[in-house]
Amino acid sequence: MKLKEIGEFGFINRFAHRFDPLINSKDTGIGDDCALLSINDKEYHLVSTDLLIEDVHFLKDEISPEELGHKSLAVNLSDIAAMGGKPLYSFLSIAIPKSTELEYLDRFMEGYHKLSEQYNTPLMGGDTTSSDDKLIINVTIIGSSTKQDARLRSMAKTGDVICVTGPLGNSAGGLKILLDKLSLNTEKKKLIKRHHTPEPRINEGLWLAKQNGIHAMMDISDGIASDLKHILKASEKGATIYLENIPTSQTLKHVSSEEKWDIDTLSTSGGEDYELLITINSEDAKTIIEEFEYEFKTSLYPIGIINDNKNEINWTKEGKEIRLEKRGFNHFKQ
Ligand code: ADP
Ligand code: MG
Repeated sequence: MKLKEIGEFGFINRFAHRFDPLINSKDTGIGDDCALLSINDKEYHLVSTDLLIEDVHFLKDEISPEELGHKSLAVNLSDIAAMGGKPLYSFLSIAIPKSTELEYLDRFMEGYHKLSEQYNTPLMGGDTTSSDDKLIINVTIIGSSTKQDARLRSMAKTGDVICVTGPLGNSAGGLKILLDKLSLNTEKKKLIKRHHTPEPRINEGLWLAKQNGIHAMMDISDGIASDLKHILKASEKGATIYLENIPTSQTLKHVSSEEKWDIDTLSTSGGEDYELLITINSEDAKTIIEEFEYEFKTSLYPIGIINDNKNEINWTKEGKEIRLEKRGFNHFKQ
């Protein structure tokens, strides 16, 4: 059997359970945005790692070195945000083609340093090596949270309102513009910028985790069609999503109508928006949505409801059931 028949999650499922007997009962390993390592009765360390490979995750001629430095750290910070945690330290391992200009690397580190400063997260170590011709970047992030505040993918309950912290599909639109080599205008450049410089929702994640009514949380890296499935699987639940409620930016709406893109596909199956996907106890949803808006001056958008249909997402549009063709990003299955 080939890897592409089962995909990345099929591969992980083949070995993950074998490590369970080695894991201390107070810790949680593979399966969430971060591993949760118990420090004491009250706190966890949160750890996550992400790999970015030239031509797989980024196009070196399209993304500036500063943006690449930013993005390498941002996607990791986003996994800390997904647990409701506070970032503490990062580690950077990098394999660099020998012909790389020093100026390129200085600019990469400039972007990495700027975001590190923004979230007060020092770089504490890493590894540097040469590579034949591709740039390969691996960041490991360490954060912390109280045990009371940490939010897992497994915490969704029937009746919860499913919300997202911002518009979806901008990053996928930006990537599509690059891959299709479309001629650029201000709007298209804006979408590409969203693709190259995602903002980790650290402050939002910390605030949300303090609210009792917030149940499950994760970050949206592969598109909700794929990511919501992880919450459903971990929580043994199902969901109905109202496509007309999925927030999309004016820019994406405009470019999609110009280019005749299917905006529902981009906003559900396109990756790398790095907004948070959360489920809220139905009785608390209204208050939390209002208070979130007051706190962050941006909306928390309700897009669906958790139900008991195990592992299944029902997509509806204006009351009618819809079949979605594409189902989120999965390495090996594209
Ligand atoms: P995320 O998108 O939040 O980074 P992934 O979907 O990439 O998470 O991974 C899902 C889970 O599988 C995570 O808990 C991650 O740590 C784990 N995982 C992924 N690849 C490996 C691997 N090669 N070895 C062990 N755990 C892995
Ligand atoms: Mg994640």
